[in-house]
Amino acid sequence: MSNLRFRVVETAFRKKPATVESPAGRPSEYFANHVFNREKMFRYLPTEVYRKLADAMDHGAALDRSIADQVAEGMKQWAMELGATHYTHWFQPLTEGTAEKHDAFIEHDGKGSVIEKFSGKLLVQQEPDASSFPNGGIRNTFEARGYSAWDPSSPVFVVDDTLCIPTVFIAYTGESLDYKAPLLKALRAVDKAATEVCQYFNPETRKVFAYLGWEQEYFLVDEGLYAARPDLLLTGRTLMGHEASKNQQLEDHYFGAIPTRVAAFMKDLEMQAMQLGIPVKTRHNEVAPNQFEVAPIYEECNLAVDHNMLIMSLMRKVARTHGFRVLLHEKPFKGINGSGKHCNWSLGTDTGIPLMAPGKTAEENLRFITFIVNTLMAVYRHNGLLKAAIMSATNAHRLGANEAPPAIISSFLGVQLSRVLDHMEDCTVDELVSLSGKQGMKLDIPQVPELLIDNTDRNRTSPFAFTGNRFEFRAVGSEANCASAMIALNTAVAEQLTQFKEETDELIRQGEPKVSAIIKMLRHYIKQCKPIRFDGNGYSDEWKAEAERRGLDCETSCPLIFDRYLDDDSIRMFESTGVMTQKELQARNEVKWETYTKKIQIEARVLGDLVMNHIVPVATEYQTKLVDNVYKMKSIFPSEQADKLSAENMGIICKIAEHTSYIKEHVDAMIEARKQANRIKEEREKAIAYHDTIAPMMEQIRYHIDKLELIVDDRMWTLPKYRELLFIR
Ligand code: ADP
Ligand code: MG
Repeated sequence: MSNLRFRVVETAFRKKPATVESPAGRPSEYFANHVFNREKMFRYLPTEVYRKLADAMDHGAALDRSIADQVAEGMKQWAMELGATHYTHWFQPLTEGTAEKHDAFIEHDGKGSVIEKFSGKLLVQQEPDASSFPNGGIRNTFEARGYSAWDPSSPVFVVDDTLCIPTVFIAYTGESLDYKAPLLKALRAVDKAATEVCQYFNPETRKVFAYLGWEQEYFLVDEGLYAARPDLLLTGRTLMGHEASKNQQLEDHYFGAIPTRVAAFMKDLEMQAMQLGIPVKTRHNEVAPNQFEVAPIYEECNLAVDHNMLIMSLMRKVARTHGFRVLLHEKPFKGINGSGKHCNWSLGTDTGIPLMAPGKTAEENLRFITFIVNTLMAVYRHNGLLKAAIMSATNAHRLGANEAPPAIISSFLGVQLSRVLDHMEDCTVDELVSLSGKQGMKLDIPQVPELLIDNTDRNRTSPFAFTGNRFEFRAVGSEANCASAMIALNTAVAEQLTQFKEETDELIRQGEPKVSAIIKMLRHYIKQCKPIRFDGNGYSDEWKAEAERRGLDCETSCPLIFDRYLDDDSIRMFESTGVMTQKELQARNEVKWETYTKKIQIEARVLGDLVMNHIVPVATEYQTKLVDNVYKMKSIFPSEQADKLSAENMGIICKIAEHTSYIKEHVDAMIEARKQANRIKEEREKAIAYHDTIAPMMEQIRYHIDKLELIVDDRMWTLPKYRELLFIR
């Protein structure tokens, strides 16, 4: 067989799992051995330097320049012992990936040779030529000066031969050009606001951490098959392909036995992740064939975001050594589940109190309810913005489809917690707080048994569900940088907690006792944020109508959803918390619209090329074969009999003609539509044109291609089919 497809299918079937070289010992022995963590800092730095650095890490203090040289020296020594020869500032531009430029440690020694050197200056700040990163016009190419600066709250690490230094990426005029800078600001804002509220209950609280535990879903596809699919290669998803006769109907993949070749990949990935200090804990098959998940133990939010970015690039690399390609796209295959990245989020104090978990006493539960209700209020007030934070050209395929959270943000609390909130709403403040003689105050707040909620009360359709000790933000896309969602969520909660504190303090000033002031405010919010609470089926049409009635954001067009970033409410929220300015928000939106357009543009081009180079030629060739057959039938049978015998083939010939002419016509129309859209100057309007006209055309064309796939001779079809992409492992 000459067809490339058959060659790669055959090779894929013959592949054996790669053997994995394992580092010596148990995970606890090699965990974080590629990370310059406190233990190494202590070992490689003078005590005084270590103390100052630890202070900068713990309290967000700026790194004292006087110690930077010594820190750099210690780091270099440690990294070189691991074989590192280069260093890089590792940052997260607005492209969804990470960026790095590697420099060797070497410098001239003045005697014609070189020495290994790494100074504090190089550690702390760099000026990557940043003109080619998206910046939405903050910085045009003439003043291409931005700088990256080390974020000591995320430790440096070694990958291969390179010391990687996590940094923020900022324009010289101070605007953030990345995800990390605003994330750190959002985390600072929520820390400050939550600490103040916490002090109502625990005056000794000095700091509140936001925690994030992500669950990364992905597909694995055999490398050869992937290479034979230009659409996967260039866009990350299949732009065509008829559903396989069997896909996920039998639900036999979820939590099933992990295929051997995949297991070898997972083991290798986990080992390398562990060495980088990523506490990977969970692995399993996902719902769709060839779909899997990896999840770590949750960590402080900034570190968790870095670790997710790191594991995504690690996955790409490790997959290749196992003859796979990893697909992180949210919807690589039509008709089966897409991939998400559930972001489990909670707050906790420096004294070890989890703020999203119910407590044992009524007072602890009041604190718990305070944080739950304020989170709900934040999500209610900014539900449109939260959707914008997770929206992208790729995630748009997933949201609103039947397996993923709907394109409306709502929150599921479960029966127990709902009951507690209803109770608080129904009773008066006096009923909830009674003074009981010498024992002081008595609170009538029902208990919420933590385990019960966690284990039994689940609603998989909810985009923002309470799951016992955390909220699970499920709408985040598999390919996304979770920082985007975390910036919006933490900032919204920070703003809300600040307002709660101000309003409660005002009541206290007016003479209301503290506890009843808190309860009064909570009751007020419970009533106000009711529209965000939804425990039913998020996929149903009734919910869409109901959500509209409730005034929740129901927009489904990606470019229009981005508008939410520029609403007055959003700008006020980001500015009052010091997370982003209006100018930054505008610039970032320009990037979002531009990226949206480019993604659709690339897909449309790839589709056009595939149609001309694969689909139409193959369909025509097959059609010609049939025509030939009909002719020959006519030459050997009497006319009437020949007509009868050729009827079937004549039907196929006509069908092919109909589909191919539809496809060709519409590809031409699509090219024309693109030309028109490209003339539009404003990024927003251009993105809208791509969304409204070009994206739907691609779907229509695809329909006809998929029909052709069903009728054309399998031996002639050049592109690997869904059954091959999804079932070879
Ligand atoms: P699921 O049942 O949703 O698949 P998993 O046990 O696989 O849950 O993991 C959920 C993720 O939530 C893990 O990363 C876990 O560490 C994280 N997680 C657990 N508790 C918290 C918490 N309090 N705050 C943030 N994340 C948490
Ligand atoms: Mg989950």
